[in-house]
Amino acid sequence: NLSDKLDKALHVLKGHGQITEINVAETTKEVRRALLDADVNFKIAKEFTNRVKEKALGQNVLTTLQPGQLMVKIVKDELTELMGGESEGINLSGNPSVILMSGLQGSGKTTFSGKLANFLKTKKSKNPLLVACDVYRPAAIDQLHVVGEQINVPVYSDRENNDPVAIAKAGIAKAKADGNNVVIIDTAGRLAVDEKMMNEISDIHKAINPQETLFVVDSMTGQDAVNTAKAFNDVLNFDGVILTKLDGDTRGGAAISIKSVVNKPIKFIGTGEKMEAIDIFYPSRMADRILGMGDVVSLVERAQEQFDEEEARKIQKKIAKNKFGFDDFLSQIQQIKKMGNMKDLMGMIPGAGKALKGLDIDDDAFKHIEAIIYSMTPDERSNPSKLNASRKKRIAKGSGREVQEVNQLLKQFDQMSKMMKMMQGGGGKKMMQMMSG
Ligand code: GDP
Ligand code: MG
Repeated sequence: NLSDKLDKALHVLKGHGQITEINVAETTKEVRRALLDADVNFKIAKEFTNRVKEKALGQNVLTTLQPGQLMVKIVKDELTELMGGESEGINLSGNPSVILMSGLQGSGKTTFSGKLANFLKTKKSKNPLLVACDVYRPAAIDQLHVVGEQINVPVYSDRENNDPVAIAKAGIAKAKADGNNVVIIDTAGRLAVDEKMMNEISDIHKAINPQETLFVVDSMTGQDAVNTAKAFNDVLNFDGVILTKLDGDTRGGAAISIKSVVNKPIKFIGTGEKMEAIDIFYPSRMADRILGMGDVVSLVERAQEQFDEEEARKIQKKIAKNKFGFDDFLSQIQQIKKMGNMKDLMGMIPGAGKALKGLDIDDDAFKHIEAIIYSMTPDERSNPSKLNASRKKRIAKGSGREVQEVNQLLKQFDQMSKMMKMMQGGGGKKMMQMMSG
């Protein structure tokens, strides 16, 4: 996939102390090939790699200490830029705010209508109404009602009426009467772009003049997604793109190309069939993912959520005073375990995902370490330097582990203490560099 290929392309540069102009050219060529393989439009891929090359040569990549790091950063920044820079919200200024869904059949409009209603209700305290304008298949109306029931949001439909424009208008009137401040209009799509569908969505659009028109597209459709986006944009001049099915075997090409072809922001992504599987689109996170750097931002956020700040402060004080001991180490392990499944967490660390592929890590990974620490006396835990050969032997026996393992743990502990000291001294960056190799 794209990640692997970009990874390979950038591998040439990662860790090289010295790189040449030829290396830069080779790498950018590989990056371009990877983008093309991911269904990125040829012209976009070419322009992209040219910009990367220019930047790389211009920013003295050749003389920096870590050219690989800088190169990865340049590629990442350019990818982020290409996908839209800062993330943009949804216009909710209307009363009610009318949001119109558009897109091909099967792209995920009905599912996303429900997800968005649920998101606006739970995260933005809105009171949405869903409107069923897919009049061609009775099942489509049923589907929206099922979705509405799941999230406890009312649905307006009219099975006697086969004019989507009239239904959309009636739905908005109903929202006004019932005090719904958001109206989400789900429409019919067809399997491919055709005139009838375009006329219909265009008629609805003209008649209701929505605050926000969203184009929903299946991210697995690659280059086709770009053509479809263009066709819909020509008719609707829509406000934003919704990329669905990013939970599947994503090629990522759609995200990269769409923004540059229609010049409209990607606003949300769909990552599953459930109503909760919706995320705000962050170009830089997507760039990280595409680059296989792991979702560092999410990892840090999750860590921040889970780590007890008070505990962290105590530990910091101890490190500062050189009093960090095995009891603290133990409590750190317990904190880490609270953060979730080890394999998931490791996967978020740059580079680790690959190194650990095939390895069976379970949540018991720390069991042996804990056993060893539990076999130390409180005094030994606070003063690890006291651990001489005979004490180590005793601890090994007590915990049922080998002396070798005790030694290994002491070494790890030592490294960890050093690393934490470094972070204290504003060396966080250094730590990140170590992690990403
Ligand atoms: P519509 O024809 O545009 O209304 O598309 P639907 O909302 O009916 O979705 C078509 C199919 O795609 C359904 O089976 C959905 O469950 C599925 N689907 C929609 N969004 C996602 C997503 O983000 N991830 C996954 N895996 N499936 C999705
Ligand atoms: Mg539908």
